[in-house]
Amino acid sequence: EKILPVFEVGESGPHAPRIHKGKTSPPKPYTEATLLRAMETAGKQVDDEEMRELLKDNGIGRPSTRANIIETLFRRKYIEKKKKNIFATQTGIDLIDTIENELLKSPELTGAWERKLRLMEKGEYAMEAFRQELTEMVIALIRDVKNNTGRSISFAPDKPAGKEKKEKDAAPPKPKAPKKAADPTAAQCPKCKAHPVKKGNTAYGCANFAACGFKVPFEAFGKKLSDKQLEDLLTKGKTGKIKGLATPEGEQEGRLTFDDQFNLTIQTS
Ligand SMILES: [Zn+2]
Repeated sequence: EKILPVFEVGESGPHAPRIHKGKTSPPKPYTEATLLRAMETAGKQVDDEEMRELLKDNGIGRPSTRANIIETLFRRKYIEKKKKNIFATQTGIDLIDTIENELLKSPELTGAWERKLRLMEKGEYAMEAFRQELTEMVIALIRDVKNNTGRSISFAPDKPAGKEKKEKDAAPPKPKAPKKAADPTAAQCPKCKAHPVKKGNTAYGCANFAACGFKVPFEAFGKKLSDKQLEDLLTKGKTGKIKGLATPEGEQEGRLTFDDQFNLTIQTS
């Protein structure tokens, strides 16, 4: 098979040479809106057809958690906003470089887990086997990280990070605002950050509870929470120290805060 015709030395003929002049342009940076959309449709870039099908309805995160995931990326300084566009920071780029396990940074992991959950629904996959796999995966990942010492992540020093640290370490006295009664409903929903918090019969919850799912009960770990404690929880993410919290391991002293799923949890340190 010849791609080029044969040319003889000295041969000539009519031709019109043309060099295409142009520049490739980098993909458009994400905005918050396009990033959300990309998370919804993350499965589209996955090669495996079955996996793509499973991811079709999933993407990265759930509708209720996607905005939060982006929020977390901002808070941890993995991404930053310039005008409306979102860019990865050096810290974010380094982080992804540090994770050598491809699966961990690929949307396929969600797809693989979803597939197994579907199989479990049909009774074709044992929960215990899944749990065992997760355990082994985590052990292997940790081993990888331990063996992989030379890498580091650069943290750009900036004010918010420094401030957070200071508050934790020294708790500088804040100028006292005139005291007003604590009001948990003054808070914005800490989960979706898009709706106010409303008082229900047994809990404060997101005004958009149906979609967001956030609520915090009046009573937790055997303690009735005061309005002040609830307000702290909703606005600062944690309460002051509370004694005598009832847990399966006995009574504990600690601060109430939220875990990744916005369930109440006790912080003892
Ligand atoms: Zn909400």
